[in-house]
Amino acid sequence: MKVKIVGCYCTWFKELSTSFIIDDNMLFDVPAGSFKTLLTENKLDNIEYIVISHFHSDHFADLHAVIDYLNQHNVPQNIKILAPKGCKERLQTLLKTMEVFHLNQFIDEKITFIDCENNKIVKLGDYKIKCFKMLHQTLDAYGFTIEKDGVKLGFTGDSAMCNNVVKIIKHCDTIFIDTATIVENNKHLSAQEVLSLANEYKTCNFIPIHMTYKSRDYIKDYLSIPTQGQEYIFQKR
Ligand SMILES: [Zn+2]
Repeated sequence: MKVKIVGCYCTWFKELSTSFIIDDNMLFDVPAGSFKTLLTENKLDNIEYIVISHFHSDHFADLHAVIDYLNQHNVPQNIKILAPKGCKERLQTLLKTMEVFHLNQFIDEKITFIDCENNKIVKLGDYKIKCFKMLHQTLDAYGFTIEKDGVKLGFTGDSAMCNNVVKIIKHCDTIFIDTATIVENNKHLSAQEVLSLANEYKTCNFIPIHMTYKSRDYIKDYLSIPTQGQEYIFQKR
């Protein structure tokens, strides 16, 4: 499996917020301000699947622009979006707010919305995806394991420490893990927590994402730091 880093920081930095393109056909999260980068540095024409971890703006806000691009370029014919419950309604509200009405027919006819639920397993083409409810304040936020060709990858989305973070780590060869803070809280994992998990679960490769400069600087001596545009190739172990 190939994972391209569209962005790997959190909102308050000049680098793009966290987003991935997986194997050219899956887009994982669509942060505010990411569309132009997605357009110039990545091929959106092959996107068939979109995964949204939760509806915060740094994960969801440019989805309308991606949908508009897919509509204009008419490829592929059908898109599947895996997201927390209510994604279609939120997208319709966004379009109404911005007075973009021409996409409603495309959304009705060409997009299938699949609701995340804790422990739900979803097949999207060759991908087997399992959803995990995360601890992100009180939000309906999800992490995922994504498997294909014997490769098992984990994505926490946004999460504080919880049992499901450990479940994802135990299941995966590599985890892209929220490392957004240096202070423990109920919204994000801290760099110290990520390091202690990496020390405990050594068979899993930890890649910090959703970083701040402080959390990056804390963890960079211990874990390798991704950069925008970087591509990882993962083989079956
Ligand atoms: Zn969030």
